[in-house]
Amino acid sequence: MTDPITQLIHHPYQPPAGFAAPQPAVHKASTVFFPNVAAMRERDWKHKSGYTYGLHGTPTTFLLEERIATLEGGLQCVLVPSGLAAIANVALALLQTGDEVLIPDNAYGPNKALAEGELAAWGITHQYYDPMDLADLAARIGERTRLVWLEAAGSLTLEFPDLIGQVRLCRARGVPCALDNTWGAGLAFNPFDLDGQGLGVDLSAHALTKYPSGGGDVLMGSVTTRDEALHLKLKLTHMRLGLGVAANDAEAVLRALPSVALRYRAQDQAARALAGWCAQQSAFAQVLHPALADAPGHAHWQQVCGAADARGQGAAAGLFSAIVHERYSQAQVDAFCDTLKRFKLGYSWGGPISLVVPYDLAALRARGWPAHLRRGTLVRFSTGLEALVDLQADLQQALNRALPS
Ligand SMILES: *Cc1c(COP(=O)(O)O)cnc(C)c1O
Repeated sequence: MTDPITQLIHHPYQPPAGFAAPQPAVHKASTVFFPNVAAMRERDWKHKSGYTYGLHGTPTTFLLEERIATLEGGLQCVLVPSGLAAIANVALALLQTGDEVLIPDNAYGPNKALAEGELAAWGITHQYYDPMDLADLAARIGERTRLVWLEAAGSLTLEFPDLIGQVRLCRARGVPCALDNTWGAGLAFNPFDLDGQGLGVDLSAHALTKYPSGGGDVLMGSVTTRDEALHLKLKLTHMRLGLGVAANDAEAVLRALPSVALRYRAQDQAARALAGWCAQQSAFAQVLHPALADAPGHAHWQQVCGAADARGQGAAAGLFSAIVHERYSQAQVDAFCDTLKRFKLGYSWGGPISLVVPYDLAALRARGWPAHLRRGTLVRFSTGLEALVDLQADLQQALNRALPS
């Protein structure tokens, strides 16, 4: 008689097929079985026609890839363990020794750190371009340029570039462009159809950590494309680097995804209302949000994001920054952040809790202090899902205590 433990490990029972419920199943696997050696040899890890190994995909990750591709208007998607890993996957798939990458000076900081660290060490050079000056980008595209990063709106300072102009320029010069689409999240605009005529980026990298996860409890990223050859290039690098995602994390994102548009809109509305309110407070020298009429790149934001909202108000992420007037000391700005209660101190965004971080902008901009920004200390806010009145009251009490006029 077979040992009962062996029996239970090799148990023949199969639950009935046809189970249907709102949430998909969570398939967890490193090992995947094959019916025979011929099938093992034949199966192709590059396509969604079958399964080879957990790292190359399970029904759970395939499902999430397809849904993210749909969200962003793309055709293919790879999942990676973080938004930063999405940036790295793009860079390592497209760049070799001797190549150059162009990065906007207001890019997500760790994108620049990757260029200055590993890429530089491997003989891949980089230049930082002015995101608000198309001529500057045009002048920097050269013989060795193999990748141009785009970001709209820019990190921390939220300038909205001439995205359509930038993509047209890259097309005209035959250089692939990759958008860090975490801010737009596939909701503020379609990265693969920016002008309604099908003009789009080649690659869209997205920190699913932010809005798609929505919980502040999952790290994940994606790279979406509409070009099969480009997708396979990414897949190959993805496979060689071993960039898999965990099934339970994929399930958490799948669960949050149906409400992503509702959360994005709510967080947008709260951020806009608070940005408008902050703009009236004398402690702030400047408030940065692309929907504000005097924001750098406001017209470009209207052009690309203006149609995304049925009420014609345009769409934006739940982020804004305020430059605290330079008459206040760094210690006072720190005290302001410490005094906030609803806005917690913490990195990332897109979850239910509002967050605040003070930044030393001068240290983060390679090209110096941008001419369109007032001097002072920059504080970045992201709105969660709390009631607007409570968030505004929190800002008011912290201003009264830490930044008296
Ligand atoms: C957060 C963020 C990332 C990185 O995402 P992680 O999942 O935290 O690595 C990349 N780009 C932008 C614009 C981001 O805001």
